[in-house]
Amino acid sequence: MPRRHLPDPLASELARARGAIFARERAGEHPHVVYALLARQGRGRRPIYVGETRNARRRFDTHLKTMFGGRDDDSARGQRLRALGVAGHRLEMEILEGVPHRLAALGCEAGWVRALAASGFDLANARAGHGLEPGGAVGAERVPLSRLRALPLSEAVVLELDLELRCRAGCGAQVLELPVRELAARISGSPPLGQIGGAVACAGCGGASLLEPVPDPGLLAALRVEAPPPERLAAFLDGIGLR
Ligand SMILES: [Zn+2]
Repeated sequence: MPRRHLPDPLASELARARGAIFARERAGEHPHVVYALLARQGRGRRPIYVGETRNARRRFDTHLKTMFGGRDDDSARGQRLRALGVAGHRLEMEILEGVPHRLAALGCEAGWVRALAASGFDLANARAGHGLEPGGAVGAERVPLSRLRALPLSEAVVLELDLELRCRAGCGAQVLELPVRELAARISGSPPLGQIGGAVACAGCGGASLLEPVPDPGLLAALRVEAPPPERLAAFLDGIGLR
């Protein structure tokens, strides 16, 4: 069935806003963005996933390849994308916010996940660390530090994160503090922090170690799960015709 493209002033306004954010991203003003993936069928759109990235265009291409191009992704997100693709949906990306660094992106992402879930949308985000935990847990107020294990070493250097090496088995061996710049000088490439910890044997029991980031109070504050401003959430829902 041929698709009709009706004039939609709001859509072009959104496209302009999105273009402006892409431009700022290229200029390095907001190196990280938080985005929503939208499944579109006809003129109906709904958010299915919230993510964060440093390269929105490349990330969108990756999601498209998962949806239509046979790229492996066994996560809940990958399974949802493939099912929607088979059912004839299109995929769109909407930039929600630009933020200065990855920690801020994680806190912002969790806030949007929680806000959209509260608005009734079924998101394909994994629960742990994305703001969907039941109330009361520490993780409900702050993105758990365990999510920083996926942080590349180069980003830990930029953020000047303090790092601690501790025994995964908890044998009681002394915790080692590792200056991040010294670590980066000794390791080639930029592996994620979790991978570095696993490659170092515990000095006490010889088991695997954990490399844990120890953010300073300012960075910890960035990991707080912040609900998006109500007017921004309303503008997003208006923009996709859901309010
Ligand atoms: Zn040990």
